[in-house]
Amino acid sequence: MPESFDVIVIGAGPGGYVCAIRAAQLGMKVACVEKRATLGGTCLNVGCIPSKALLQSSELFEETRHKMAEHGVVFDGVRLDLAKMQARKGEVVSANVKGVEFLFRKNKVTWLKGAGRILAPGKVEVAGETYETKNIVIATGSESSPLRGVEVDEKQVVTSTGALDLEAVPKHLVVIGGGVIGLELGSVWRRLGAEVTVIEFLDRLVPGMDNEVAKQLERVLTRQGLKFKLKSKVTGATKSAEGVTLTVEPAAGGAAEEIKADVVLLAIGRRAHTEGLGLAEAGVELDERGRVKTDAHFATNVPGIYAIGDVIAGAMLAHKAEDEGVALAELLAGQKGHVNYAAIPGVIYTWPEVASVGATEEELKAAGIAYKAGKFPFTANGRARAMGDLDGFVKILADAKTDRVLGAHMLGPDVGTLIAEISLAIEFGASAEDVARTCHAHPTLNEVVKEAALAVDGRALHI
Ligand SMILES: Cc1cc2nc3c(=O)[nH]c(=O)nc-3n(C[C@H](O)[C@H](O)[C@H](O)COP(=O)(O)OP(=O)(O)OC[C@H]3O[C@@H](n4cnc5c(N)ncnc54)[C@H](O)[C@@H]3O)c2cc1C
Repeated sequence: MPESFDVIVIGAGPGGYVCAIRAAQLGMKVACVEKRATLGGTCLNVGCIPSKALLQSSELFEETRHKMAEHGVVFDGVRLDLAKMQARKGEVVSANVKGVEFLFRKNKVTWLKGAGRILAPGKVEVAGETYETKNIVIATGSESSPLRGVEVDEKQVVTSTGALDLEAVPKHLVVIGGGVIGLELGSVWRRLGAEVTVIEFLDRLVPGMDNEVAKQLERVLTRQGLKFKLKSKVTGATKSAEGVTLTVEPAAGGAAEEIKADVVLLAIGRRAHTEGLGLAEAGVELDERGRVKTDAHFATNVPGIYAIGDVIAGAMLAHKAEDEGVALAELLAGQKGHVNYAAIPGVIYTWPEVASVGATEEELKAAGIAYKAGKFPFTANGRARAMGDLDGFVKILADAKTDRVLGAHMLGPDVGTLIAEISLAIEFGASAEDVARTCHAHPTLNEVVKEAALAVDGRALHI
């Protein structure tokens, strides 16, 4: 008799492992299939966690070399030990992935090691064994999107995975794609000494984020030394022992030029990972972009098969995947699981950081929704001045009639943390007035959020 479960989750990234834990908490017998040697998916192994470890280390290096003297802390002979920095990153990853293994043991989730394949509804094959289950959850995540003419070898032409593991600082790193991953990893290697050029097809960085924030981010990163080549497309890459020569053309067409790089980071986006899962044979429908098609309750067109996370539509973010995992587990337990997609924050961990939640001004205009905007700069905040981190602002958008908070867009120190207040405001249906009337400790960066909320009504105090 094959071993049987209530739920088999395929993929142990933040979507899959969280779904497995929540389902186990709710009393179900759960297995999670993972083909990688460690749990935690893209996020813990080659995504969020290692990138943040390197961002933290490289920011310390940058601060020590360029910022501390202004505070009267003077260092001589600061040098980089990249091998040690990479080893520390490895330890951070290792502690996190082992943490998930511990959580599986604690919650009695069985880890089925190997690649999972759906044989039929209720039947999953892993490493030659067949398992039975009432429900199957596809949580197989995403992979780096390829670009025609640019062949990845993870040495000279790398995806984010290779860019996290470089053993030497490249002299010239060219990043293809001005999105979140390209800017974060471009920042890491620029801080560590590389010349970094970012080539972007569009006329702006971080598409989808607020225009004003994107423009100011470009200015700040340019000042830090990143070079941007917007409205340009890479049409080919030739490798030699000396490096990589890229052919670059204007996005609108025109004469091509050549750009030489030691290392090229391909970061034009990510695509759903569904290969080898047996979806076609099981009759599971995909959408036009190859993502698993689901309804509002994460159900595919095949009864008993569900999907969550990067493999379905929506923002490719770890916390979106996690929330979907929790919601689906609760739905499977007969509860009312739900994800509020209007309140999912997005953060870019450059320094200064970028954070955004809810609608942008562009989206509100397109939808014909009347809104008021309140904006407050970090230059007028005492704590930011004490820290010496004055770039950026907080902008809050509220419904013109009801004052309900509809979105917030921020650039500045630690705004990835500040954004949580506005996510909560949106979740609770709060007004800008509610945020403005909430007492905020002084002196904190959070006061910029309060002042921006006051500014919605034209009554910011400290400007
Ligand atoms: C460099 C980088 C930095 C990032 N930084 C952030 C960040 O700061 N914040 C943020 O929110 N998001 C970030 N992301 C995105 C985040 O990593 C993803 O949104 C998140 O990991 C998606 O979770 P998931 O569970 O859907 O899939 P994944 O994390 O991709 O996990 C899927 C898992 O399924 C496994 N799998 C696939 N097919 C099979 C199979 N057939 N059988 C068994 N196992 C299988 C894979 O091995 C993988 O472990 C980053 C991504 C990258 C690449």
